[in-house]
Amino acid sequence: MATASKDTSPLYATYARANLRVKRGEGVWLYTEDGRQFLDFSGGIAVNVLGHAHPHLVEALKAQAETLWHVSNIFQIPGQERLAERLTEATFADKVFFTNSGAEALECAIKTARRYHYVNGRPEAFRLITFEGAFHGRTLATIAAGGQPKYLEGFGPKVEGFDQVPFGDLDAVRAAITDATAGILIEPLQGEGGVRSTSPEFMRALRKLCDEHGILLVLDEVQTGVGRTGRLFAHEHFGITPDIMAVAKGIGGGFPLGACLATEAAAAGMTAGTHGTTYGGNPLAMAVGNAVLDVVLAEGFLEGVREIALQFKQSLQSLAERFPEVIEEARGEGLLLGLKARVPNTSLVAEMREQSMLAAPAGDNVVRLLPPLNVTPDEVREGMERLEAAVANLSGAARKSA
Ligand SMILES: *Cc1c(COP(=O)(O)O)cnc(C)c1O
Repeated sequence: MATASKDTSPLYATYARANLRVKRGEGVWLYTEDGRQFLDFSGGIAVNVLGHAHPHLVEALKAQAETLWHVSNIFQIPGQERLAERLTEATFADKVFFTNSGAEALECAIKTARRYHYVNGRPEAFRLITFEGAFHGRTLATIAAGGQPKYLEGFGPKVEGFDQVPFGDLDAVRAAITDATAGILIEPLQGEGGVRSTSPEFMRALRKLCDEHGILLVLDEVQTGVGRTGRLFAHEHFGITPDIMAVAKGIGGGFPLGACLATEAAAAGMTAGTHGTTYGGNPLAMAVGNAVLDVVLAEGFLEGVREIALQFKQSLQSLAERFPEVIEEARGEGLLLGLKARVPNTSLVAEMREQSMLAAPAGDNVVRLLPPLNVTPDEVREGMERLEAAVANLSGAARKSA
């Protein structure tokens, strides 16, 4: 039942929004209507890979806006072909379907996995093994895949076909495989779940299990993809490739864009008429997606991400050692970093905001730090100073109350 409230906003009350009205962004900085300036390490939740208003992206979007905004997917779209060619060139994939969001990329991935078995004479094999703490989006199928009760509650019967096991538990995965299993769906590093990683050995074991059972490895790289972990895609750290992969967030650099990538074999069932989208792969999105790749795929870019990420993580680890009453540990890969807090993570995010720095909370009481991939050493130093001031304030409070 709706509770009486003074909420006069015409917007759905689904977000507990911070009291901050952003007017303009530039690089790693955000400027509010009331004249405040924030260092943005929330990065639109791993979206703004090149920061705000990156000149190359702005230019690409402007040029496309003056040429052609939209044509239906019943026509050929050259920008789509180009972006798909570049993505398949740079990855394991042979085929790409473009979407507007991460959840839609996952929907396409799930449908692709099911169709693969259907056209191979195993229509009963439609189930995916998923992991506790996962986040795959907010559509009916993706909340079922994520399996989190707080997102499922009140939305009717859970979509059938997802079997959840503990994150990183290989025996549980093995035990969950049946004749009805289509594949395994996993984030190489859980973002919303709290910047939680498994191990390269676990990821490689999943690949092996899939091969042994003739099932598909489906990776959700919506948050980890497009350079975020210091490689173009996180699975490159493990020396394995998936059969299907969902991508979004960073690939559009702030423009709504997602993609489902697959091998030729895995995508074999997705024939004419089996799937569709009105906006997915729209010329505006393709122009921006291609511009993002211009930068991320440029010689030396990802190497730079790995270098600065290493410095940043070392600084975070040192901070955690100096303030153990506030921070339990620093974790994560590349520029998808997290601080597991000993105070409520929301308190740390709020205290950071007092220091004019933005970060994103995550599960497992973690604060995520997601600066743009082109963040400079000076900006990281600036971030560390603000973060340390916030942590020191909370530490003072913690010591007083102890
Ligand atoms: C954000 C996210 C999604 C959902 O993406 P939307 O664009 O919000 O639909 C799915 N999977 C992961 C891992 C994500 O981080």
